[in-house]
Amino acid sequence: MNRVIVVGGGLAGVRAAEALRSKGYEGALTLVSAERHMPYDRPPLSKAVLAGDSDDTTVDADWDALRCELLLGERATGLRLDGPGRGGTVASTAGDLPFDGLVIATGAEPVTLPGDGRQHVLRTIDDSRDLRGRLTEGARIVIVGAGWIGAEVATTAAKKGCAVTVVEAADTPLAVALGQEIGALTIPWYAEAGVELRTGVKVAAVEHGGLALAGPGGGERIDADEVVVGIGVRPALGWLEGSGLLLERGVVTDASFRTVMDDETGTVRPDVVAVGDCAAWWSDRYGRRLLVEHWDTALNAPDTAAAALLGQDAVYDAAPYFWSEQFGRMVQYAGNHARSERLVHRGDPSGRKWAIAWLTGDRLDAILTVDRPRDLVQARRVIAAGTPVDPEAIADPDVAVRQA
Ligand code: FAD
Repeated sequence: MNRVIVVGGGLAGVRAAEALRSKGYEGALTLVSAERHMPYDRPPLSKAVLAGDSDDTTVDADWDALRCELLLGERATGLRLDGPGRGGTVASTAGDLPFDGLVIATGAEPVTLPGDGRQHVLRTIDDSRDLRGRLTEGARIVIVGAGWIGAEVATTAAKKGCAVTVVEAADTPLAVALGQEIGALTIPWYAEAGVELRTGVKVAAVEHGGLALAGPGGGERIDADEVVVGIGVRPALGWLEGSGLLLERGVVTDASFRTVMDDETGTVRPDVVAVGDCAAWWSDRYGRRLLVEHWDTALNAPDTAAAALLGQDAVYDAAPYFWSEQFGRMVQYAGNHARSERLVHRGDPSGRKWAIAWLTGDRLDAILTVDRPRDLVQARRVIAAGTPVDPEAIADPDVAVRQA
């Protein structure tokens, strides 16, 4: 392999470039990224950067040592694949870029609402800096979506003295991620921070100076100085349409991040890998495809993707992990509870520190911790090993999370 192109300059793209070099790849390496900034980290954008405590989250990479050409502010617009294993060409605003190895790491883009009023999203450092300047004392900030990003923005805006309302279509915050039963446990956090939470409210459109609501509340408006929309993201795949790669919600890959051409025959393109927020990868651990939009996956999975691109044997089988800092709490989650049999409380959820464990039989599938970082670390180890636990001990917050 002599010519590798990485498309996407987020964490996954940077880590892929680093991993290729550390695994001995000596050929030409180019990273193309639509943003003009040097690659940077996104988690602080809804935390320290928005709060004004930090302004630079550039990823610490030695580009000279990596011998990586950076094409910043340039966008891939199409992909043409040559015969199997023979590379192809990325069409881009910088011209055609031929390759014999390709890393797709274009991440995800925020979903927006209809309407011609101004709506802020939070994906880039420019988004964060722009919104930061508008979070002034007394400003009426309406946030659509009580998910991870919505809760973090609400936290920061409330701290800055804004009048914050969060509007959520489901009956509780975090209903999609954690289910309503657990999401409901976070409702008091909003009031405690002085944030108004309105659940079961559907937004019809963002208008000038506020939101128009839909449904039974139709005709109602919520006035706002600024509207922030945090209703989820979609993988950035537009440029891959017509390429022949299998696209579902993300770029479909096998457990090594090699892209799949045909699901039925299992035909893969070993010369094209996809990783990070844009990839729907096969998880042997869970027996299905996962699309994980978390920092930890963008950090660690590219090592496997780079190995696979270089023809080495590698499979990614980690249990997902993420964290969120909201309303003065550190919330962490590891594993996957989509098919769990039951959940167990660990500590009183009306208190400051508690956790929820999801179990199937005596197997720990997932854990959510609130200000209990030690539980998280211990549980992550048990989940990774797949060793049995004692469900009674798991329910006791004074007993360490460990193998039975
Ligand atoms: P991205 O970071 O999205 O990078 C993709 C890059 O590709 C972008 O620069 C994009 O402009 C570029 N690109 C897209 N299309 C093209 C194209 N056609 N041509 C060229 N370039 C293109 N995760 C956690 O676990 N915990 C957190 O607390 C947390 N907080 C977050 C807070 C915010 C505000 C955001 C936005 C995300 C947060 N995340 C968090 C998620 C985490 O940051 C992402 O999972 C991670 O950034 C994914 O990295 P990526 O490289 O796959 O994609």
